Amino acid sequence: MNVRQQIRAASADSTGHFDVVIAGAGISGVGAAYHLTKQCAGTSFVVLETQKSFGGTWLTHRYPGIRSDSDLHTFGYRFKPWTSAPIATAAEILSYMGEVIEENALGPHIRYQHKISSARWSSEENLWTIEAIRTDTGEAVRFTANFFWMCQGYYRHSEGYTPEWKATESFKGRIVHPQQWPDDLDYKNKKVVVIGSGATAATLIPAIARDSAHVTMLQRSPTYFRTGRNAIEIAETLRALQVDETWIHEITRRKILFDQDAFTRKTFEEPEAAKKDLLSAVEAYLGPDYDIATHFTPKYRPWRQRIAFIPDGDLFQGIKAGKASVVTDEIERFTETGILLKSGKTLEADIIITATGFNLSANGDIDFSIDGKPLDFSQTVTYRGMMFTGVPNLVWVFGYFRASWTLRVDLVADFVCRLLNHMKDIGARKVTPALRPEDHNMPLLPWIDPENFNPGYMMRGMHLLPKRGDKPEWQHNQDYWAEKDEFPAIDLGDRAFVYE
Ligand SMILES: Cc1cc2nc3c(=O)[nH]c(=O)nc-3n(C[C@H](O)[C@H](O)[C@H](O)COP(=O)(O)OP(=O)(O)OC[C@H]3O[C@@H](n4cnc5c(N)ncnc54)[C@H](O)[C@@H]3O)c2cc1C
Repeated sequence: MNVRQQIRAASADSTGHFDVVIAGAGISGVGAAYHLTKQCAGTSFVVLETQKSFGGTWLTHRYPGIRSDSDLHTFGYRFKPWTSAPIATAAEILSYMGEVIEENALGPHIRYQHKISSARWSSEENLWTIEAIRTDTGEAVRFTANFFWMCQGYYRHSEGYTPEWKATESFKGRIVHPQQWPDDLDYKNKKVVVIGSGATAATLIPAIARDSAHVTMLQRSPTYFRTGRNAIEIAETLRALQVDETWIHEITRRKILFDQDAFTRKTFEEPEAAKKDLLSAVEAYLGPDYDIATHFTPKYRPWRQRIAFIPDGDLFQGIKAGKASVVTDEIERFTETGILLKSGKTLEADIIITATGFNLSANGDIDFSIDGKPLDFSQTVTYRGMMFTGVPNLVWVFGYFRASWTLRVDLVADFVCRLLNHMKDIGARKVTPALRPEDHNMPLLPWIDPENFNPGYMMRGMHLLPKRGDKPEWQHNQDYWAEKDEFPAIDLGDRAFVYE
């Protein structure tokens, strides 16, 4: 059965009881489904997905040039080799995920156009009751599950974040958010202003610069970028030696992770040197006369926000060729023909693209309750960024920012499968994380230390996220290199897990 046939087959049956319900069919949900079939054979499960197909981020975002900003050897799963150039388009990532679904017969487990609206835990029945709305028919459907595996990502797919600016309604051209890219947007020979300088802007600009009259990247403050060839030397060498792709995948992952670890350490231990490395690479493209200090030198330490990889320096090549330019300033207000800046300068535009980020959605906009009481995640404490105090039989997958998201998808899946197998072995129907006696005086802090990592969407939504403590068990530390050893060693008999 191909993926399409599997999807149709799956749609026939719409409700029921499952051992596990997985929310979302993005890279996390598909990974969770794969690991369940391999590590918890015989476990029944269903994946509920709002959209018409799998892919999550890679399906939602359709703007020109959409691609990964980290390499696919590590953004790909550890179990399926990535065999192409490391930076991949959304279409390539979707095709890779489609193969994972097809090769592992995951299709029949996925119900598309099922938007989960509520999840209610009953301690009497030891069950989650999960309600979803079928987006094709409007019908409400109900599932029950012993365990809820939340793979719904971290932002709202239905709309991106746009700050409020003055007089936006006066602008006569089109204003577009990249998360809702219109199919009919014609930017050929048009003057385009892209607001923002994150990964989305950096991807979009080179892709539209070729055809538009000119693209201006308008940023309030600069961002760090990494740049280099879209190739991994060791993978190329091993391929030339006709080494098996499974080996190439594993060795290349190790090499990339080794190098990333060294770079991450450098950003903490020698931030000025790390900064110099990043800026010299930009200067190599733009030349010594370009004002790198104003446009490409952020005020923050490298890695406090995600650093996007710019393959072959295409953004900088566009700037060098005069097809794109950077303006570092603030918006005073929109005008009929563009934007008036606080400096008094104006930017003329036919189209304004607001690459201004996401709206954080920690819980997939699902109404949660525990024994009839509404659940407020911000009143819980996180267990290693994946479970929450007082919330039974639930795991949330939140990946890495300084390394590929998917590395954590695999690690969390190993943990969940080990936990489910352990519960089966000891005959437990319920596991709830709880602070241990030694944790009761622990300071409770925001989910992530802003000194460590502080992207805008996270800062805007921090008050909605669970709290963290000051011990590794109660933190989401964003450190793959620590967690890769700590997760397999988690003692499931620890008093942080209360079994019933
Ligand atoms: C443009 C862009 C580029 C990125 N590039 C990279 C990169 O190169 N490397 C990297 O590591 N990270 C990258 N990220 C971060 C990226 O989001 C994650 O890496 C990863 O794709 C997230 O996967 P996910 O499956 O956890 O969540 P998502 O991709 O967000 O998928 C979640 C899925 O859950 C569904 N869902 C949500 N709520 C519900 C509900 N209530 N009911 C049913 N279904 C629901 C959504 O429809 C969606 O399909 C990027 C993000 C963006 C936006």
